[in-house]
Amino acid sequence: MIVTAQTKETFDLFAYMREHEQVVFCHDEGTGLKAIIAIHSTALGPALGGCRMYPYATTEEALIDALRLSKGMTYKCLAADVDFGGGKAVIIGDPRKDKSPELFRAFGQFVESLGGRFYTGTDMGTTPEDFVHALKETNCIVGVPEAYGGSGDSSIPTAEGVVYGIQATNDVVFGSKHLHGKTYAVQGLGKVGKKVALRLLEEGADLYVCDLNEAAVEEVVAYGKQIGASVKPVNGTDIYRVEADVFVPCAFGGVINDETITELRVKAVVGSANNQLADKRHARMLKEKGIVYAPDYIVNAGGLIQVADELYGANKERVLSKTKAIYETLLAIYERAEAAGVTTVEAADRFCEERLQQRRRRNDFFAHQQRPKWAIRR
Ligand code: NAD
Repeated sequence: MIVTAQTKETFDLFAYMREHEQVVFCHDEGTGLKAIIAIHSTALGPALGGCRMYPYATTEEALIDALRLSKGMTYKCLAADVDFGGGKAVIIGDPRKDKSPELFRAFGQFVESLGGRFYTGTDMGTTPEDFVHALKETNCIVGVPEAYGGSGDSSIPTAEGVVYGIQATNDVVFGSKHLHGKTYAVQGLGKVGKKVALRLLEEGADLYVCDLNEAAVEEVVAYGKQIGASVKPVNGTDIYRVEADVFVPCAFGGVINDETITELRVKAVVGSANNQLADKRHARMLKEKGIVYAPDYIVNAGGLIQVADELYGANKERVLSKTKAIYETLLAIYERAEAAGVTTVEAADRFCEERLQQRRRRNDFFAHQQRPKWAIRR
C-alpha cells in the first residue's frame, strides 16, 4: 500500500493497473534514471512501445500516461496485425537537460531485465540515437538508425498508410478510391504530412496546406506550381474552415474538438496525427454531422508495422506490402460501423477487442519469454 506524500490518502496501485499485466518502476541513482515501464498485454507477442521522456509533475501523472499509452499500443498492434502486444515506457525528466548516454544504458539494463517481454525505441522526447546507448545493454530495441541495424525513417510507411486510409475513405464516401479530382486540407507538412501532400499532388489532387514552418509550405506550393496543381497556403486555424473533401491532420493531437467540428466543411477526416479526437464523444459528433472519421490508430500504423517487422530483419518492401493492409482493415471498420450503427472509433475498438479475445485463447500468458524465438535479428 502506498501513501501519497501530499494527501496521506491511501491508493491502490493495482486498481490503476487492473487492465495491465505488469508495471515496472526503474530507479538508478547514479544516472538519475526514473522510469516506468507498463506492459498492457503480451497476448499477441512481447509488448512493444516507444519510450517517452517528459518532465512529469508527479509520479502518478507519469504512471497514468504509461498505462494509457501502453493500452493504446495493444489496440494499435491488434489493428495492424503485428506479432507484438502493447507496452510503453516513460522516463521522468527534461529531454533538453537530463539526458546522458549512461541514463539510456541504465534504462537498457532495466529493459533487458524483462527477458524479452518488452521492446522499445523512440517516442516524444527521445531520439533513435538515444537508443544506440540502450542497445549496448539489450537487444530489445527497435528503430535505431539504419547504421546500427534499424529499419530507418518510419515516416515513409506512415505516410503510405495515410494514403491507403484516404483511398479506403474515398471509396466509402465518394464511391471511388481515386485520389485525383478532390481537394484535401493538409495540416502539418512535417515528415509525414509533406510526403502525403506531395503524393496527393502527384495523383492529381488540389490542396489547402498549413504549417508553422514556412519553408515546408513553400516547398509544397512550388511543387504544385511545377506540376500545374492548385496549392493554397492558409494560416493556422483557417485550415479548419476551408471547403474541401478531406481534412488530413498531420501535425498534433486534439484537433477534432467542440470548436473545430462546428467549423469543418469536409466529408471526411483521415490523417496521421495521434489522438486526433479531443474526446471519444467527438467521434459521435462527427458522425452526426455526416463527416466520416478514419480512426487515427488504424491509419497511422505504418511506422509501427516497420519497427515490428524488424523482428524478421529490416526489409522495406515487406513493410510497404504489409502497410497495404490498412486499406482493407479500414474498409472492414467502416462496414462494421455502418452495420452496427456505431461510430468508426467504437467499431475499431470492438474489432481490436474481438481479435484480442481470439489471441488470448490461442496464446499462453507469458509464453513469449523464449528469447531465441523472439529476438530481433541484426
Ligand atoms: P513532424 O514533427 O515531422 O511534423 C509535424 C509538423 O506539424 C511540423 O512541420 C510542424 O511545424 C507542424 N505543426 C506544428 N504545429 C502546427 C500548427 N499549429 N499548425 C500547423 N502545423 C503545425 O512530425 P511527423 O513525424 O510528421 O508526425 C506528424 C503526426 O503524425 C504527429 O502527430 C505524430 O505523432 C503522428 N505520427 C507520426 C508517425 C511517424 O512515423 N512519424 C507515426 C505515427 C503517428
